[in-house]
Amino acid sequence: MALQQLDNLYRQTVMAYAQQPHHFHPVTPDDPCQVTKLNPTCGDVIHLAVTVADGRVKAMHFDGDGCAISMASASIMTDLMIGQTVGSALALAATFSKMTMGEAKDLSSLGEAKLLAGVVKFPARIKCATLAWHALTALLTETEEV
Ligand code: ZN
Repeated sequence: MALQQLDNLYRQTVMAYAQQPHHFHPVTPDDPCQVTKLNPTCGDVIHLAVTVADGRVKAMHFDGDGCAISMASASIMTDLMIGQTVGSALALAATFSKMTMGEAKDLSSLGEAKLLAGVVKFPARIKCATLAWHALTALLTETEEV
């Protein structure tokens, strides 16, 4: 497959996620565990809400407004994280963050999130890709301390 085609495939997949994000519905004041994160360099905003019970991520949803990469990344993250233990969720977020810097060795645990490995080539977009994952890390770290 030519590089151009690979790029197109990646773009189409990211666009599909961005246009119809999974677990995308409004975060309201009734959501007990939530955070808002901004990526000022691009203008991306994400509100993320998480429900943790018995040490596991039971549910997660988000809303917000941002570029295709930030929305696709958040969507893929919700699919990956629901059902994980808090410990594995934090480990996955750390692996994802390393991947965007080209430092992760084993991407097999990341599932569809591997599609975003291409942002390594676009340093300006790394914060778009990691925004939701940083939001989740912040929320889960708080939860663990409670
Ligand atoms: Zn962005």
